[in-house]
Amino acid sequence: MLRTIESLGSLAGKRVLVRCDLNVPLDGDTITDDGRIRASLTTLNELIHAGARVVVLSHLGRPAGAPDAQYSLAPVAQRMSELLGKPVVFAKDSVGASARSAVDELADGDIALVENLRFNAGETASSVAERTEFATKLAALGDLFVSDGFGVVHRKQASVFELATLLPSAAGRLIEAELHVLERLTTAPQTPYTVVLGGSKVSDKLGVIEHLLPRVSSLLIGGGMMFTFLAALGHKVGSSLLEADQLDTVRGYLTEAARLGVDVVVPTDVVVAASFAADADHAVCDVAAIEDTQWGGEGIGLDIGPATAKRFSSIISDSHTVFWNGPMGVFEFANFAAGTRAVADALTRVDGLTVVGGGDSAAAVRALGFSDSSFGHISTGGGASLEFLEGKQLPGLEVLGWQ
Ligand code: ADP
Ligand code: MG
Repeated sequence: MLRTIESLGSLAGKRVLVRCDLNVPLDGDTITDDGRIRASLTTLNELIHAGARVVVLSHLGRPAGAPDAQYSLAPVAQRMSELLGKPVVFAKDSVGASARSAVDELADGDIALVENLRFNAGETASSVAERTEFATKLAALGDLFVSDGFGVVHRKQASVFELATLLPSAAGRLIEAELHVLERLTTAPQTPYTVVLGGSKVSDKLGVIEHLLPRVSSLLIGGGMMFTFLAALGHKVGSSLLEADQLDTVRGYLTEAARLGVDVVVPTDVVVAASFAADADHAVCDVAAIEDTQWGGEGIGLDIGPATAKRFSSIISDSHTVFWNGPMGVFEFANFAAGTRAVADALTRVDGLTVVGGGDSAAAVRALGFSDSSFGHISTGGGASLEFLEGKQLPGLEVLGWQ
């Protein structure tokens, strides 16, 4: 049974550490999508109103285990303060003098955010001893621990796993809500059940396919990972993203899909660009002709083509359950956003449950002007939700009593 906030007893006057996933996309120090901050508010407001002294922990980006100003959480503290309508004290470190004095000065119902946890190598260390050492320093800042960073529950990291073993700990409301929806995808989902995969974390996501195949009706492949599929099918992909060492693995998936009767749908056309740039020259071409454009082997595929987008849309809108993770193209550039827009639009027409998972996927649908309410659920976790759907045990949930 997942332990929830009720299990922690009275919160008034207690220092409550809350692990959130505030890993928002930034353009300089401007937050381009504050969805993850908004998603953290339910738990934070509840703790504040209960009179806790709230200490928020998070990572941002992938700094190399040392302070790095471009990954500071300072802009997040500012935005969080606007959204909560109250001051958020920002500490310039996470376990040092600044964090300790920020926590010491909190009154009941006050809230502080400490600096990026990943400025400390202990947060993501592979050594259990190093993680435990860092988690022990974090634990000294609090009396209780609420884990609510759904986007990181698949990671065995100090603030996700070890910390939860060092203090009385429970899941926050975001994790509860995420699990509630994702369980509907794993327990007898209505068919046809379509999973749409894209994005750029290709090697992370290829692995999930093996486990998803037995569970779905159709699997649609777009984004960066489509080129590994196209290459596996014998096409040349120019300078597009490619995991060359995964070709046999992908061929294995295709064979297995055929055996299971699962429709794995690979693009038939793509948008190829002269370079990776917003204003790059580009052309739509058949997947067999990626290297036949004027850019030859330099050409780089940045979106699914219109015929593919149409096919994906029709499969999606005929489904009764759809899970989507990973943009179909480089949606940040308007010229390469059409595939992602088409998929998002098709999801809004589904009669059934639709779930969008992943930080960039969530940011994409908002950036393209879709409202959150057009989808059944927008999950804050990409990797975490995929691993959940695969049926894996997630360390950050197990440690909270989930089985
Ligand atoms: P999520 O955060 O939703 O799980 P990812 O982090 O895996 O998604 O990937 C998001 C990124 O993938 C976006 O920034 C997008 O620009 C990029 N992307 C999508 N298609 C391509 C492509 N064909 N080539 C390079 N990058 C791509
Ligand atoms: Mg991402």
